[in-house]
Amino acid sequence: MSKETTNQSRRQFLGNASTVAALSIAPGVMLSQVAQAKPNDQEVNDSVRWGLLIDTNKCAKDCTACITACSDEHGLDNSTHSDRPDNAKIDAQWIRKVTIRDTETSHVTTLPLMCQHCENPPCVDVCPTGASFKREDGIVLVDKHICIGCRYCMMACPYKARSFVHEDLHNQKPDTPRGKGTVESCNLCVVRVDNDRQPACVEACADEAEGAIIFGDLKNPNSEISRQLAQHGGTRIRADLGLNPGVRYQGI
Ligand code: SF4
Ligand code: SF4
Repeated sequence: MSKETTNQSRRQFLGNASTVAALSIAPGVMLSQVAQAKPNDQEVNDSVRWGLLIDTNKCAKDCTACITACSDEHGLDNSTHSDRPDNAKIDAQWIRKVTIRDTETSHVTTLPLMCQHCENPPCVDVCPTGASFKREDGIVLVDKHICIGCRYCMMACPYKARSFVHEDLHNQKPDTPRGKGTVESCNLCVVRVDNDRQPACVEACADEAEGAIIFGDLKNPNSEISRQLAQHGGTRIRADLGLNPGVRYQGI
């Protein structure tokens, strides 16, 4: 999984009313509640909106615990089975570390970036088949059975959060069926969430690192994520685009 450094200004990355340039990113809080996801006997509905809150102050530059956990959870590391003649590693882009530098203060921030599970997702708007869709609880997904691989959604996503599966796939995980010739992105570990579990990256960060990521219901004022947001605030990356991401950041 790639870790990239961008030289773009922090202001451009975060966006503001006067910044209309496209996002040019190419490729804390200790977890105090364990079970914040959906009990498996509860239907998916819009009474909740799942989201993530990432405290960048707790995200060490060289830590890749979340990336490794995501890769393990979803069987994304296909490198040893690549069908490419040069056996080149083909990385999925479900989550990656991005480093931004404030051009005014030179302050450097490292943060994990995944699908932002937008409330108004352009990837869904442009999908000609309905393969890209948003669940009532805010999780944005791709139905690989309907995806025709046109990649319109990849072009529409301002966060460059989606990737295309070029290679043959082997040893897939039963909970994350992938498809050659289709597009994919972070699914917020939907199978875990539907079974009252935390996303893999959240769990790994709490267990192996500083507990920089909180998962929870943004609509529930009593959830840990809502309390932290109410207390310390949170930043939406490229808020100026009006997509209202479900992933929020602190420390930027
Ligand atoms: S971040 Fe990109 S892929 Fe995810 S919902 Fe928003 S537009 Fe779609
Ligand atoms: S929520 Fe799950 S799929 Fe999304 S980045 Fe975290 S581990 Fe990966």
